[in-house]
Amino acid sequence: MSKMVLVTCKDEVVDRDLLELKEHAHTLLGFVLSFCMVHNLPIRFTSIKSDNVTGRVSTSHIESRAFDLSIKNWPSGSAWKLCQEINEKYGYLGAYSNSDGKQRACVLHDVGQGQHLHIQCKRK
Ligand SMILES: [Zn+2]
Repeated sequence: MSKMVLVTCKDEVVDRDLLELKEHAHTLLGFVLSFCMVHNLPIRFTSIKSDNVTGRVSTSHIESRAFDLSIKNWPSGSAWKLCQEINEKYGYLGAYSNSDGKQRACVLHDVGQGQHLHIQCKRK
């Protein structure tokens, strides 16, 4: 059987919002797709334009600069590895952190609903 990776969207997430993502966010998404294909990781969007995970108003999501991915069913360490690799390669496209001013393309965090990946790009 040919290789297959599942790409899904959480019910509340509007998949068409993917088409609105900013150019840099699409670059990051391209790397995510490649990484997940190579490592057999399912891709599940849990938030694109709206931040459904936190229910908070997140500027990066509203501005179509970010998307969230579930890491459910990923082998341990995979999310961390993706985070590290994407930040090494595309960190310069990442959004600036409010807390330390550093650029990050990807953060692995838990804002109350379990760990997930938040992938984000800078404004311009
Ligand atoms: Zn997010």
